[in-house]
Amino acid sequence: MYQANEHRYDQMVYNRIGDSGLKLSAISLGLWNNFGSVDAYDNQKAIIHQAFDLGITSYDLANNYGPEPGSAEENFGRIMATDMHAYRDEMVISSKAGYVMWPGPYGNWGSRKSIIASADQSLKRTGLDYFDIFYSHRADPATNPEETALALDQLVRSGKALYVGVSNYNGAQTQAIANIFKELHTPFIIHQPRYNLLNRDIENDVLPVLLRNHKSAISFSSLCQGLLTKKYLNGIPQDSRANKTTIPFLHPAQVEQTLQTIRALNEVAKQRNQSLAQMALAWNLRQPAIASVLIGASRPEQVVDNVAALANLDFTTDELNGIDQILAQ
Ligand code: NDP
Repeated sequence: MYQANEHRYDQMVYNRIGDSGLKLSAISLGLWNNFGSVDAYDNQKAIIHQAFDLGITSYDLANNYGPEPGSAEENFGRIMATDMHAYRDEMVISSKAGYVMWPGPYGNWGSRKSIIASADQSLKRTGLDYFDIFYSHRADPATNPEETALALDQLVRSGKALYVGVSNYNGAQTQAIANIFKELHTPFIIHQPRYNLLNRDIENDVLPVLLRNHKSAISFSSLCQGLLTKKYLNGIPQDSRANKTTIPFLHPAQVEQTLQTIRALNEVAKQRNQSLAQMALAWNLRQPAIASVLIGASRPEQVVDNVAALANLDFTTDELNGIDQILAQ
């Protein structure tokens, strides 16, 4: 029977989400990959136990995480029911709807029909009574944002979610839906954008909107799916994401294209006495709007490595300028 580490809250940093009362651990664990029906269940359990033992309170799901789609929620639900049940109130668990999940016109995007049905399915798969945060996974160009906002608002009012968020919305879309949530008094608190050393688009678009509206961000693919770690410095390991056919989102060509930059960034990390992964996470957290960085992990040791980023979150101006120069090349 799993017994959580009694010192789990000693080292972790907890940041307030916007102007809400909620705090998230500065590092969050995402279950997009490595928690599907194709992955070893015991390893999944070990990763979650390791994360929780290190003070990670925030766990991120979506309807379609797997593969197979839905299986990450099922596996997470099984872990919750067996040995994490006692800790439910110490956890912030999120899910999302907005990418394709089931056939036909309702299993995708942001209509009220899709969002409510998807949230109900996600609750069933996880066996949870409610999600702490429920997200619109992406803006739907064919649905009025008011409808998507009202669907999320309904989830809160019916007790199926405590807070709501949006993901992959650009700055203008974020401002538009924030205005609606404000009118509805919906607890909209968070945005989940892609952000890492190699993807900086949100810096001049989404982040200023969040600061202006007193919302926070939780960045996804903070390690650019593993590119921003030491793992590809000497080739593509057999058991890495770039080599897995079950995960089609990272290709050997991307490894090749970024290698020179990664090597240069690794030198900066060494000078800071950090691993490259640790520096990449610290670099994200330097943004005032970013309250938490999501990490994926294929084994417990990666969680340990990543959480140790918190030991050095500060950057000198020289370091930041040096990093900018590397990224500009
Ligand atoms: P990362 O950028 O953190 O990449 C995770 C991968 O990097 C791991 O699977 C592992 O790869 C490798 N890795 C992690 N830590 C280390 C380490 N210390 N040393 C070496 N390798 C390491 O995140 P993801 O792209 O997986 O995204 C994280 C989460 O963000 C998702 O689980 C999901 O919750 C969320 N997300 C949300 C999206 C959205 O649209 N809202 C889209 C994408 C993600 P390997 O398997 O090779 O060991």
